[in-house]
Amino acid sequence: MQFVEALKLRSKLFFLFLLITVGLITVGVMGSMNINSMKKNIDSLYFGSLVPVTELNDIMHTYHNELATSVHKVTRDEISSSEAANSIEKSLLKINKKWKSYESHFKRDDELQYLEYAALEIKYINSYFVRILKASQREMDLSRLSLTVLEKKISHINTVIQKLINYEINIANFERKKFLQSYNNTIIQLGVVLALIIIAILGISLYVFSSIQKDHTKLEEATRKLRRANKKLENVSYTDSLTGLHNRRYFNMIYDRELKRAKRNNSYITFMMLDIDFFKQYNDTYGHVEGDFALKSVAKVLKDTLRRPADFVFRLGGEEFGVLLVQTDESNSAKLARDICDDIRGREIKHENSKVNQYLTMSIGVVCCIADDALNEDILISRADEMLYEAKETGRDRYIITSNVSEAKTQTIDEISA
Ligand code: GH3
Ligand code: MG
Ligand code: MG
Repeated sequence: MQFVEALKLRSKLFFLFLLITVGLITVGVMGSMNINSMKKNIDSLYFGSLVPVTELNDIMHTYHNELATSVHKVTRDEISSSEAANSIEKSLLKINKKWKSYESHFKRDDELQYLEYAALEIKYINSYFVRILKASQREMDLSRLSLTVLEKKISHINTVIQKLINYEINIANFERKKFLQSYNNTIIQLGVVLALIIIAILGISLYVFSSIQKDHTKLEEATRKLRRANKKLENVSYTDSLTGLHNRRYFNMIYDRELKRAKRNNSYITFMMLDIDFFKQYNDTYGHVEGDFALKSVAKVLKDTLRRPADFVFRLGGEEFGVLLVQTDESNSAKLARDICDDIRGREIKHENSKVNQYLTMSIGVVCCIADDALNEDILISRADEMLYEAKETGRDRYIITSNVSEAKTQTIDEISA
């Protein structure tokens, strides 16, 4: 059965279908063979016994009711001689025809001897009636005909034919018994074969299905692994490798989505642009490696300060960061921007060549407004950049916030970072 395991799912189902088909064909062939043999049995019962018995009964009836009655009537002058002749002739023809037909049916060896005897007896009694027929045709006086002889002959031929009938009935009973026996055997045979085929099909189906199930489980496991790998890949592609913050790619996706959502809900949306003060001097003073450490520290402060699941922090490039908040009003946005400035300064990252503080500081441009249909997606970014510029101009280490989004000369994020 190992070859079943190796088959593909479609081939496994085809294999199962093939098995069921072969099983059904086998049962069908067996059934039709048995039905054919039963048909033969019924034919032999019908033509071998039932028809002959009917013919013999007819013959007996004709002797008794037609021939004997005609003779009785003519002796009593109830019918004319010609009427009697007509009736006797017709009856004899009928008897001969029936007898020939009876003889033509299949006869067993043990029956043949008695059949010969019966044929002779029929011939003998018929010749008796032929004599009466001829006398009637010649319109002879039949009143002196011995009715006792007639009765004797009729009774004798009845006995002969009745013996044949009994024989045929015995044969019919025997055939019936044989037929019932073969019927019972057929039913048992078919039942056993059918049960075996069903058991085989069930067993093999179970095997094929368990093998399909195994394949399915393997497939599910592979899909799960693939999904996990994809998720990891997606996370990597949306994450900035130095700081672990979301990167610019992720920003482009989230910004669009959140802006649309805020527009739909007519809710607050806040965008902050953050830029480290005099970072070029920092690098020049402490070197690039220290500069990278400082970037990581800033990223940590941002993560710690913005802890709500709906707060998004991005590293947009170099020492520039972006923050996207939803459902945060102007005063809360201002408080968060102030906290960020305070916390970064509070980290006390030494920056002796900064012109504003002995520690590393950050300038932030904030724009906070209620999103409506008129809000252009680039306005928020341009206004935040303008506010950042203002914060730099007015002394750095601070935030400038606005809720006015109408005055911006629009620039995209890529133009600003360029
Ligand atoms: P300002 O206060 O006006 O922003 O002054 P600034 O010196 O910060 O000005 P600017 O934005 O021109 O300087 C950015 C500097 O940030 C330039 C570069 O040396 C530094 N920088 C950008 N990306 C990285 C980085 O990935 N690692 C490190 N260590 N430094 C970086
Ligand atoms: Mg910069
Ligand atoms: Mg800077």
